[in-house]
Amino acid sequence: MNHDELNLWSKRAADWAQEYHAGLRARPVRAPLRPGAVAAELPAAAPEHPEAMAAIWADFERIVPAHMTHWQHPRFFAYFPANASPASMLAEQLSNAIAAQGMLWQTSPAATEIEQVMIRWLAQALGLPGGFAGTIHDSATTATLSAVLTMRETALGWDGLDQGLSGQPRLRLYASAETHSSVDKAARLSGIGQGNLVKVPTDSGLSMDPEALAAAIRADRAAGWRPAGVVLCAGGTSVGAFDRIADCIAVARGEGLPVHVDAAWAGSAMICPEFRALWAGVEAADSIVFNPHKWLGAQFDCAVQFLRDPAPQIRTLGLRPAYLETAGREEIVDFNEWTVPLGRRFRALKLWFHLRAYGLTGLRAMIRDHVAWAADACERLRAFQEIEIVTEPSLSLFTFCMKTEAETAALLQAINDEGRIYLTPTRHAGRLVIRVQVGSLACTAADVGEIATTVARHLQRA
Ligand SMILES: *Cc1c(COP(=O)(O)O)cnc(C)c1O
Repeated sequence: MNHDELNLWSKRAADWAQEYHAGLRARPVRAPLRPGAVAAELPAAAPEHPEAMAAIWADFERIVPAHMTHWQHPRFFAYFPANASPASMLAEQLSNAIAAQGMLWQTSPAATEIEQVMIRWLAQALGLPGGFAGTIHDSATTATLSAVLTMRETALGWDGLDQGLSGQPRLRLYASAETHSSVDKAARLSGIGQGNLVKVPTDSGLSMDPEALAAAIRADRAAGWRPAGVVLCAGGTSVGAFDRIADCIAVARGEGLPVHVDAAWAGSAMICPEFRALWAGVEAADSIVFNPHKWLGAQFDCAVQFLRDPAPQIRTLGLRPAYLETAGREEIVDFNEWTVPLGRRFRALKLWFHLRAYGLTGLRAMIRDHVAWAADACERLRAFQEIEIVTEPSLSLFTFCMKTEAETAALLQAINDEGRIYLTPTRHAGRLVIRVQVGSLACTAADVGEIATTVARHLQRA
């Protein structure tokens, strides 16, 4: 295939994409789950000889769409969204067309400089004070790992990078049980160890209890261990819990510990000033992660990490071998030194297109609609006597269950097998509950209304 043929097939792909999105409402949201069904359609080995694009295309149409879970479906209420606005998709096409690798400023100045400007735009849009720098990662998991590695090295006086961890003091991290498993993974991968991630008890509002945090840190110091940092939760994945950010940061500061805030999902809502009370005090954090690829709508993948002072992270992650030396270091930023991978995609382009195509006003309106529609759906479910609302809406996320765990599981399976809407489970306070999350860019009030009508139908009330 050459670039002339690519042009022809790209146009066909654009037509296909338009039809695909226009037809989403008619498809079941979740793929049918038959393990091995797709692999069975593919030959056992790669072809020895070139194949015609027409044949490859035909196989794509025959095999792939029917076996996808449709994340851009307007009735996707599972997990959290991975929205992709059309403008951000267009930018991804252009980024794909150029196919640059932006590890250094000089390997594509536009990629680095647009990324710097997008970080500034977003910090302002979220109401953060001036002075935050930042970078774009592939995922919140990587951003949190970067923050935890930086905590480790700050606590060890940058000794671990060279000497490794054997013989070092035992390091301790603190988070609540409401934080995402990416924090556990960061504790594992950083060599700190999951057993040294202290799950600080939460209060009745599901916030980390600041006094329990202080007590845990003091107990660890008394045991001769070395506290390294605190990870706070601003919008937990399970039920949307928020730590009391200001109070917990005050404790961490008093103990001289750095703080990373995980707002991967809820950070997007902070473009609306009325929601910022939920993370009040965040401006004192050292590091904050949020995923524009979730609720905000910039195509996956795009995870923004804000840093009050990037120097400790650069000292932890940056390496400058001779073959990456760049002239004029003082005026430029080489973003590979801020992140785990060396190579970098041009992710800022889709943010630039997306933020301009919607405007902050458009994005605020979308998020406000979702929060209001989730509240409506919650009230309609509350009215069913078989249903118990287990956690009240946190922004646009709430959970419910039935009287017994078996009934809850059966209801969820029946709903998802039907495919009209898609919901996913979690556990809260030991109980199996069904999560409802409203956040699809494509959804309307009528789509969200189908949550209650679908549940009613499965309760045989239709
Ligand atoms: C989704 C999510 C993550 C993980 O995000 P990735 O970008 O997929 O790594 C972490 N924390 C929270 C709160 C999340 O909602």
